[in-house]
Amino acid sequence: MLMTIFLACLAWTLMILFCCSIWHTFKVGMQHLRRIHQIPCAGCDYFTNDYRLKCTVNPVKACSEDAIGCMDFEPKTANCNACQQGRRKLF
Ligand code: SF4
Repeated sequence: MLMTIFLACLAWTLMILFCCSIWHTFKVGMQHLRRIHQIPCAGCDYFTNDYRLKCTVNPVKACSEDAIGCMDFEPKTANCNACQQGRRKLF
């Protein structure tokens, strides 16, 4: 009888720890997602939308967390490179 109670408590403890672990993972994931959505490059005029050279001004930090708060950010205009996806010359 004592063993049954001990095992039941153990099972509930494991279930609670499992739920806490899932909640913690969800919270960390949401924080990371919020941080990633602060990267401004997709709305920037200097963003080329080309994986070979993502940005003509700061190619190293483009599309990374280093680009958050970028001083060279320019709001995208209709004539920017990222808007000319269909007109780009292919090999
Ligand atoms: S200038 Fe800054 S914000 Fe614009 S694409 Fe380059 S790194 Fe991103």
